[in-house]
Amino acid sequence: MISKLLIANRGEIACRVIETAKKLGIQTVAVYSEADANARHVAMADEAVLLGPAPSKDSYLKGDKILAKAKALNVDAIHPGYGFLSENAEFAKACQQQGVIFVGPPASAIEAMGSKSAAKRIMQEAGVPLVPGYHGDDQDEATLKASADEMGYPVLLKAAAGGGGKGMRQVWSEKAFTQALNAAKRESMASFGDDHMLVEKYLTRPRHVEIQVFCDSLGNGVYLFERDCSVQRRHQKIIEEAPAPNMPEGTREKMGEAALKAAKAINYEGAGTVEFLLDEDGSFYFMEMNTRLQVEHPVTEMITGEDLVEWQLAVAEGKPLPKQQNELKLKGHAFEARIYAEDPDNDFLPSTGNLALLSPPPTSNLVRVDTGVLQGDDVTVYYDPMIAKLVVWGEHRDSALQRLYRALGDYHISGVTTNINFLKKVANCEPFKRAQLTTTFIEQNSQVLNMNV
Ligand code: ADP
Repeated sequence: MISKLLIANRGEIACRVIETAKKLGIQTVAVYSEADANARHVAMADEAVLLGPAPSKDSYLKGDKILAKAKALNVDAIHPGYGFLSENAEFAKACQQQGVIFVGPPASAIEAMGSKSAAKRIMQEAGVPLVPGYHGDDQDEATLKASADEMGYPVLLKAAAGGGGKGMRQVWSEKAFTQALNAAKRESMASFGDDHMLVEKYLTRPRHVEIQVFCDSLGNGVYLFERDCSVQRRHQKIIEEAPAPNMPEGTREKMGEAALKAAKAINYEGAGTVEFLLDEDGSFYFMEMNTRLQVEHPVTEMITGEDLVEWQLAVAEGKPLPKQQNELKLKGHAFEARIYAEDPDNDFLPSTGNLALLSPPPTSNLVRVDTGVLQGDDVTVYYDPMIAKLVVWGEHRDSALQRLYRALGDYHISGVTTNINFLKKVANCEPFKRAQLTTTFIEQNSQVLNMNV
């Protein structure tokens, strides 16, 4: 039984986890950096411990210190949120060794998905469809190039250790290969200290559709449908929705089954997301598995009526999944818009400052705001500049979208520049209303969105 939970995170996700813990009568311990002494997540928790100075490496990434505090405070479990230590296999292992429950998958599952190339080899063996490509150990330039030539251009070079779109390059012709490879390797080495590369067929107009899966320690697994996260800028998601509109007949079930196969192949436990590229002809391909709760999990909660953090805690306690597949029903449509302190007119550079005014739209069971900040807080350079996630529900996609647009109009923030107007333009443009979603949506509609890309 978990009666005391430490949340090894900050911002909206720390607040989100604390809310469910409170609902379940679980005591909460927040951790914070010097910059976050007055943060909302600290105020919400029953207890709070200071970790150190503002930079994440001196605070939120200090796994040893967090674990030592957890032991000292008799904490039963640690929820890592997303980012920071959430996909750190060493940390998950250390928790287990110290007798503290890590609210996440076993370290072995995190490890298995940590390298894109190793993950693809496991998936291939399990029979999960992959984008045609090369994910071998031989990293000779000649080998990599031969695989690209054989596949045919365009191809995508990807860092095996990659994340956040780093170390990725499109290559449109044989001539451009070597230069692109060197650039991708350099970027990968600089970001991840490793320059192992994968070569994949580059799909020109795919959708990013991901499946939420859940597995318990007793061998049960379910999928909680899908999210369409195609609307991205530089591989960062902007607006997500569930369910994915215009799914070809039977695809949802096939993707769900493939995602469960992927999870079972690594003896998964807890919440996970299997990301696929969905091609125009209805074929879909495994991209990667994220072994944590995703930023965009609320759209899934809106269309299923389930609390995914509650599910995570149940699984972590060794209980069976709260529901079986046939008890899960998809209802209505949900959107999530990520509200950032950033300047769309200046290459989306993060904006810092004091949140002099922070006035969200009225919330209800149709409009949800997940946030980690309060009016008067500073938005600093130290952390991700996300201010809030605005999540709405409607009976149908159209009504949900109208609600999103109105709620964005009712969100008032001053003191920092935000992307709210940009989000309104996306929500209100014809291609988005018509659900013409591909991962190149933003580039292709840059004129409609008045962007310089
Ligand atoms: P990262 O872990 O760096 O975010 P992913 O492998 O998840 O990298 O890919 C990020 C994004 O890149 C995807 O959401 C998709 O938009 C695009 N992408 C990845 N692989 C391909 C591919 N083979 N063809 C076309 N686009 C791709």
